[in-house]
Amino acid sequence: MDISVIVPLYNEEESLPELEQWIRRVMDENGFSYEIIFVNDGSTDGSWDVITRLSKENPAVKGVSFRRNYGKSPALNTGFRRAKGDVVITMDADLQDSPDEIPELYRMIKEDGYDLVSGWKKKRYDPLSKTIPTKLFNATARKVSGIKNLHDFNCGLKAYRHKVIERIEVYGDMHRYIPFLAKNAGFTRIGEKVVQHQARKYGTTKFGLDRFVNGYLDLATLWFTNKFGVKPMHFFGLLGSIMFFLGLLAVIGVGATKLYNMYAGNHYTLVTSSPYFYIALTTMILGTQLFLTGFVGELVVRNSPRRNEYEIEEEI
Ligand code: UDP
Ligand code: MG
Repeated sequence: MDISVIVPLYNEEESLPELEQWIRRVMDENGFSYEIIFVNDGSTDGSWDVITRLSKENPAVKGVSFRRNYGKSPALNTGFRRAKGDVVITMDADLQDSPDEIPELYRMIKEDGYDLVSGWKKKRYDPLSKTIPTKLFNATARKVSGIKNLHDFNCGLKAYRHKVIERIEVYGDMHRYIPFLAKNAGFTRIGEKVVQHQARKYGTTKFGLDRFVNGYLDLATLWFTNKFGVKPMHFFGLLGSIMFFLGLLAVIGVGATKLYNMYAGNHYTLVTSSPYFYIALTTMILGTQLFLTGFVGELVVRNSPRRNEYEIEEEI
């Protein structure tokens, strides 16, 4: 099979028939063999009935339905586990992404050798409250991930070589960072294509402003797990050592001052009257705690079934 199209959706009943028709037209015109996997993320409207009906009219239409709403990432992951096409395309259900982009995305994977091609909504039809924070978000993501050529990490329209989706696991809200996940799995040929974007025709957006806070927290998690995931002691041990060393300096300072005052015959002073005493106290306690966190982290890693999983490209 040439192409699997994965469409995660949550309450998009009005858009679905139009989307299916449009995808079908593009596929037929280009002679692709394909499947469309609709992943119903616990919709409470008639989306699933629409999908059931569409699957009867078109055998290429497949569907999975969650009992409740889990989020876009779990929906995508579920689609990935089922996709059979050589090239896998993800797109939003709300008709903001155009199926007309599919042939060129397919060509870029097949002929230009990209592992992943991400859409770039260069001209975007969304409210300003969305587009401005997104610019900031993308700048941070570029910096942290080291994928410098991507302008639009979170575009719903993306194309993947099949082996990429086998090797990445999208959970939580990680769909925003799929290029970063792919890079961490060793896929470095990541490209971008400017894509047409339209204003939402039906329904409303499913993401509020909390997505920015969550987005940054997820980015921190990804950075950490990528860098220190299997060696947490390198992170906590370093911080702990620095803390402990600072504490030690402060202790020496406090002790030396006390001794000096005693022998120089100055008036009697308490160690607790020095601010360094408190600095010593807190930094040494924090240092010890960080060290222990590092040890606990190492124990967790040691028991993880994936501690010795590596991405093997080839074997002879
Ligand atoms: N979506 C989903 N589960 C959710 C939220 C969203 O499957 O919990 C789907 C939604 O139906 C759409 C896509 O993810 O197909 C993108 O959502 P939306 O268009 O609301 O995001 P925006 O374009 O506003 O960023
Ligand atoms: Mg949308």
